[in-house]
Amino acid sequence: MTASTERIVIENCSIATVDADDTEYATGHVVVAGNRIESVGAGPAPAGLEGVVRRVDGTGHLLTPGLINTHHHFYQWITRGLATDHNLFNWLVTLYPTWARIDEQMTYAAAQGSLGMMARGGVTTAMDHHYVFPQGSGDLSGSIIRAASEMGVRFTLARGSMDRGTSDGGLPPDFAVETLEGALAATEATIDQHHDASFDSMTQIAVAPCSPFSVSTELMKQGAELARRRGVRLHTHGSETVEEEQFCKELFGMGPTDYFESTGWLGDDVWMAHCVHLSDDAVARFAATGTGVAHCPTSNGRLGSGIAPIRSLLDAGAPVGLGVDGSASNESGRMVDELHQALLAARYRGGPLALSAREALTMATMGGARCLGRAGELGSIEVGKQADLALWRVGDLPGAGIVDPVTTLVFGAPALEHLFVAGRPVVSGGALTTVDVDELAGRAAAASARIAGR
Ligand code: ZN
Repeated sequence: MTASTERIVIENCSIATVDADDTEYATGHVVVAGNRIESVGAGPAPAGLEGVVRRVDGTGHLLTPGLINTHHHFYQWITRGLATDHNLFNWLVTLYPTWARIDEQMTYAAAQGSLGMMARGGVTTAMDHHYVFPQGSGDLSGSIIRAASEMGVRFTLARGSMDRGTSDGGLPPDFAVETLEGALAATEATIDQHHDASFDSMTQIAVAPCSPFSVSTELMKQGAELARRRGVRLHTHGSETVEEEQFCKELFGMGPTDYFESTGWLGDDVWMAHCVHLSDDAVARFAATGTGVAHCPTSNGRLGSGIAPIRSLLDAGAPVGLGVDGSASNESGRMVDELHQALLAARYRGGPLALSAREALTMATMGGARCLGRAGELGSIEVGKQADLALWRVGDLPGAGIVDPVTTLVFGAPALEHLFVAGRPVVSGGALTTVDVDELAGRAAAASARIAGR
């Protein structure tokens, strides 16, 4: 870094770096130079730094890596609070006709709402798995990417697709699906137009056919080939419910993990949402192949899907990240709450030692970075990595008196004070700095009325 580089100094805070040694500082500092972390350590920042444009006094706060959300459906922001007592298949069948009315203005408004809650929940890297592309609905992918760019958060668009309608034995109505050729061509065009593979990348694209029950076997296979030919990652839903397992056995003559393997969907470039119903053998195959899991405990609870075997996946060495899932099955969309939910879910299943607060934080940061294939640049506070940082209030009313700040973060109800993405402020003093939040809420409410036909 040159002397002319603009620097931000954050000091007097607790720091959980989430590096390989889980280094923590009771009181420490981080210096940001440009978009990267220049130094991190105990005590105050080095004296004599040049080009300091901002100093943040972190007294009473905990600094963590920015959170990484590994599974979401932004468009559902405008269809929240519906089908509240349904299992996955009934919930989907109820909502598909509404979702099929989506257009470019609606995806933009919904993305802004979701992204606003992402940022306020400590997320510096967001993702959207978008898989509803009705004919004539406009440039949905472009509108979502524009919303993320305006919000200022790092972003992965998992370009989803569905081509198995009810007439081919699938779950979605025929009017809600694309053709095989159309889905593949549009996905590749999205990679051409938007994917940036660089270390500093703010936008990446993944190939993401939706699920075994909404996608043809040919689209699974050719989607995997496309992703590998273009060097992008693969994302889908898998092993979410017992009904999905029955569906796979009836249609393909095998369970989901065998089906994914047969179509090229186990590998260290794949991360899969849910993975609730995995046998011990399936857990071992995820770990052996490096297949990642986006654990979504709130959504799994909301839909009554079950509790994913996270302890077994972590022990086996599989990459595990956290996700809020779409807003129609997790209405709050507040990522920091997912750490608490993950801890509780693991303990419902496996007792009090099933997951620690620090393991929950690691899943939400480095675990997510591994799922997205970006562990080299994101997920921990280390010199040279991207300056994606979240500063949490742990000394005010919700956390006061809890001695350990990481315990406050995961067991308590901390508020976010500041969020930096690539060294740029996105949340300051608890408020979004890049967008007008009232305008966002108004636009989302109008889009919600329009998609509902009100
Ligand atoms: Zn999902």
